[in-house]
Amino acid sequence: MRGIFATLCALSFAGAIHAQEFNALARVDVEKSAIIDTEDGLKVDLLLSQPVPYRVFTLTDPARLVIDFNEVDWSGVEAEDLLLDTQVQAVHMGPFSAGWSRMVVDLTSPQVIDLAGLKVGETRDALFTALLKNATPEAFAAASGAPAGAAFSVPKAVDLATPIRRQTGEGDVMIVLDPGHGGIDPGAERGDVREADLMLTFALELKEILLREGGFQVQLTREDDAFVPLETRVTMARAARADVFLSLHADALSEGRATGATVYTLSDTASDEASQKLAERHDRADLLAGVDLSQQDDVIANILMELARTETSPRADRLADDLVIGLREHLGTMYKKPRLEAGFSVLKAPDIPSVLVELGFISNPKDLDRLQDPEWRKKAQLGILQALQNWTVTDAAEARLLRQ
Ligand SMILES: [Zn+2]
Repeated sequence: MRGIFATLCALSFAGAIHAQEFNALARVDVEKSAIIDTEDGLKVDLLLSQPVPYRVFTLTDPARLVIDFNEVDWSGVEAEDLLLDTQVQAVHMGPFSAGWSRMVVDLTSPQVIDLAGLKVGETRDALFTALLKNATPEAFAAASGAPAGAAFSVPKAVDLATPIRRQTGEGDVMIVLDPGHGGIDPGAERGDVREADLMLTFALELKEILLREGGFQVQLTREDDAFVPLETRVTMARAARADVFLSLHADALSEGRATGATVYTLSDTASDEASQKLAERHDRADLLAGVDLSQQDDVIANILMELARTETSPRADRLADDLVIGLREHLGTMYKKPRLEAGFSVLKAPDIPSVLVELGFISNPKDLDRLQDPEWRKKAQLGILQALQNWTVTDAAEARLLRQ
């Protein structure tokens, strides 16, 4: 332990408690919960419907307070309900990993945890309190870090070191669909609409279409509102021996007029500033959620993989081009620059042609309507189907040529 303050509170429930009750998620009473500044530092009060195990710690770069509960239902709890008399600008909440839901408070100054505890009331509700006190940057850094098991680490599988053999047109093509965001990371939001939900709906519908058409096997990186770190999504695709990885998004752009679908491939140098910002924002969402990025690339860092990347990137380019054609034919329009590049972490599998599709911009009212319209989505899905079918044929033909 590097001076980490972690509280793991194992509660024993005395008396007769029904199993159902025990399994229920704790709910938050927003009226009696608040994040406020005191003279000495931040104070977080959360009134929970029942006591649950928790852990508290801080992280640096950016400075954050992380509170994990096992488990709290954050649905319906808005940041503005909690941020009362405080300098804090942002707080994120949502499911994190199996059995844990997380709250991340952006700290505006270095502070260390002075006290954290849970007080069970007479009606079996429980008041969670965390008190922070102002500290020097050095003291803050020394006290910060995730306790073991609290960071989302990348799953390692032995066979991940072997590059994936490219498809040759024999047998089904394995498509891994990656609905962007989820859990504590809702993605872009407009009113009640969350990018994470829109993309899950789209991916589930697309899966049905691909399976019905035949010739494809389909896996999703998430099938519900779960948080999945970017690196884990890549690992999941490799574990599934994916032939194609398709990440689905509908982000917001600050210039709200941008409209239409865009298709991205991986590049160290972004096509333009907006693309660069988009890629950075996705990485930042992981960081804010408390993902440990230190082991990035470890799993796949070897020379074989570099060789694989050289072969994979033209295949990904062709896939992206086919997607632009398919989407344009079925949707009629695309974003003014439909084919872009940026350093999206989720596209980094060296041996899987990986493409990220921004189906539209949630920041644009027209796109927002379209994304919620099943008819429009169907057209986009048929465009993607056409692209995948065309790509599979050309790609297999090239593979057979290369083998001769
Ligand atoms: Zn996104």
